[in-house]
Amino acid sequence: MTQRPETHVFQAEVKELLGLMIHSLYSHKEIFLRELISNASDALDKLRFEALTKPELAAGGDELCIRLDVDPATRRVVIVDNGIGMTREEVVENLGTIARSGTRRFLEALREKGSQSPELIGQFGVGFYSSFMVAEQIVVETRKAGTDGGVRWSSRGDGEFTLEETSGLERGTRITLDLKPLPQGEDDAQDFADAQVLRELVAKYSDFVEWPILMPSERLPDERVLRRRPGPGGVEVVELNSKKPLWSRSKEEIKPEEYAQFYHHLAHDFADPLETVHFRNEGSNEYTALLYVPGARPFDLFEPGRDKAQVALYVRRVFVMGECEELLPPWLRFVRGVVDSSDLPLNVSREILQQNRTLVQIRKRCTTKVLDALGAMRDNRRADYEKFWAAFGTVLKEGLVMERERTEELAGLCLFPTTKDGALVTLDELIARAPKDEDTLYTILGSDLETVRRSPHLEALAAKGGEALCFSDPIDEWVRDALREYKGKKLVALERGEADFGGAAEKEQRETMERDYRGVLERIEQGLTGSVERVRFSTRLKDSPAVLVDSADAPGPHYERMLRQTGRPVPPRKRVLELNADHPLTSKLKSLFEADAQSTKLKDWADLLYGQALLAEGSPLPDAPRFSKLVSDLMLATAK
Ligand code: ADP
Repeated sequence: MTQRPETHVFQAEVKELLGLMIHSLYSHKEIFLRELISNASDALDKLRFEALTKPELAAGGDELCIRLDVDPATRRVVIVDNGIGMTREEVVENLGTIARSGTRRFLEALREKGSQSPELIGQFGVGFYSSFMVAEQIVVETRKAGTDGGVRWSSRGDGEFTLEETSGLERGTRITLDLKPLPQGEDDAQDFADAQVLRELVAKYSDFVEWPILMPSERLPDERVLRRRPGPGGVEVVELNSKKPLWSRSKEEIKPEEYAQFYHHLAHDFADPLETVHFRNEGSNEYTALLYVPGARPFDLFEPGRDKAQVALYVRRVFVMGECEELLPPWLRFVRGVVDSSDLPLNVSREILQQNRTLVQIRKRCTTKVLDALGAMRDNRRADYEKFWAAFGTVLKEGLVMERERTEELAGLCLFPTTKDGALVTLDELIARAPKDEDTLYTILGSDLETVRRSPHLEALAAKGGEALCFSDPIDEWVRDALREYKGKKLVALERGEADFGGAAEKEQRETMERDYRGVLERIEQGLTGSVERVRFSTRLKDSPAVLVDSADAPGPHYERMLRQTGRPVPPRKRVLELNADHPLTSKLKSLFEADAQSTKLKDWADLLYGQALLAEGSPLPDAPRFSKLVSDLMLATAK
C-alpha cells in the first residue's frame, strides 16, 4: 500500500538553517558523518534500552550495527542502522522543525555574525541538517521498532520535503545522501565519495562508538584479509571502528587527541575541551567517570529548560540515558561526560535514580573531582582558567549561593575584577596582598567596572591605597548575601551600611561635626522627605560632596527588579544621604542656614546634592527638569 508522496514545507527556521548549510564554505564539512553516525548509535542505544522490557522489539534480524556504504560512480553514500527507527510523526517533528531552543539561539548567532562563521557550526554541531553541506538530496527511510509501516522522507534542502508511506523496510533507519559534485578548482577538497576518506573519518571521529560500523570489504580492496568478517546478509565486511569505549581504557594509554576526539563526539563541539577529568572508583561502588570542561559557553546555557547536568549514564558499558541530572549538581551543568557504573541495575528508572545512594556518592565524588581540577587550573594555568571563568563563572556562582556546604570552597574558585587595576583576582590573592591587620574584604556593587571605579563610595578606601572587589555580575548580589565571610575575613559592601574607615579619632570627629551641624542636617532631611531616610556625615568620601547609601539589609537592584517582574511588592528603599564633612560646600551650607534657617535656598541645595548623588551612582533623577533648572540658576548666579 503506497500512497502518493505528500509535499510539506519546512518550518521557516529550518529553511533558513538549510539555506546557510547549503551555501556553507565551512571547512569542516566532514563532521556530517560524525553527526549521522552519532544519531545511528543513539538509535541503537535506545532500541537496546527499550528491549530490556520489550524483548520482542529487537527480536530476529541481523546483529545490531551501523552499515556504511558508498558508490563512487553515482556519488551516493548510505548509512543504515537497525536501531529504534522513527514513526511518521517523529520524522516530521525531528526532520522538519527545530525543536530545541538552543538551535534557535544558534541561528540568531549565525544571523548576527554572518553565515560564514565556521566556528559556530562546529561549536554547535547542527546534527542531521549538517548533511546538507555535502549532499544535494537526502532520503531517509525509516521504520520504528514494533510497528509495521515505514516512511520515506526526502528533500533537496530547498524549503520542502516529501513524505510517503512505504512498506518492506527493515527496522531502523536508512539515510541516502546524493553528494554534491566535487568543488571545481579545490584540489585539496575531500571527496566523501571515496571509501578511504569515509573510513578515515570514522577512525577520526567515531572509533569508540560502541556499535560496529561496517563497510562492505569490496570497497576497501587494500584492507588486510585478517580484518574481514561476514556481516549482515552474509556480505563480507570490514569493521571500521575499534568500539572500545575510551573511558574503560587506562589513563596512561590514552593520547590527548583521543580524549579530545571523544569530547567532540560527545559534545558536538569542534573546539577542544579546557580540562579532562578521568578517574575510576574501586570498592563497593565501582564506576568510571570521564568528564570534560568545555572551552566555550554553549548558546543555551541559560535557557529555561537547560538547568540540568549533561552527563550520560552507562551501566556496564550499556547506554542508559544521555542526560542524567543526578550525576552532577545543576551548577556544574556545563560539564560534559560519561559515568559508567558497575553497580546500578541496567533497567534503572528515573524514580529509582532519584533516591539512589550509589548515585548520591557518585555525584559527590564527581563534584569534588571537577572542583579539584578547576582549582589546579586556577593555580597552574591561569590564562585557561580565566577563559573558563568568562564562560562559566556565573554558573559556578550559582553553586556558591545554593550549596551551603561548598560556599567557601566555591568562593575560593571565584575571580572578581579589583577596583585597583581591573585585573581579575581570587579572594586569596586579595587577602595575601592586603595589610596584615586588614580583617575586611571590601566589595562594591555596580553595573560595570568603569562605573564602579568612579563611584564616590570608593573614594576614602582608594585614598588609603585599598581596593575592593567589583561585583557587577547580576548574581553577585546573591553571592554577597550568601558569602558573609571568607577565611575569617568579613565581606563588607561599600555601597551599603555605615562605612568605618577612619579609626576611633575620626569617628569622634564625625560625631562632634554631627552635633554641630544638627540643625543643618535636619533641615536637609526635611527638604528630602520621602526620598531619603536620614542625612549624616560620611567617612567614605574624599572629593565628592555627597553620596547615597543603602541600609545593610536592603534588597539589591537586581532583586528589586525580580520582585517587580514577578508582580510582588517592592519594599521602599530606606536610603541615607551622606555628606562630605571636608567639602567646602558643607561649611557654605552652614553659613546659609545660620543666615536664614527658613531660606528656600536650603531646599534647592538639598535637591542639588541629592541629584548629584543620584547621578554619580548612575540612577535616574526623579525630577530632571527641576534639577536642570536649579543648575541653570546656579550658572546664572555665578555669571553675574
Ligand atoms: P540531535 O541528534 O542533536 O537531537 P539531529 O538533528 O541530528 O539532532 O536529529 C534530530 C532527531 O532525529 C534526533 O534527536 C532523533 O530523535 C532523530 N533521529 C535522527 N537520526 C535518527 C536515526 N538514525 N534513528 C532514529 N532517530 C533518529
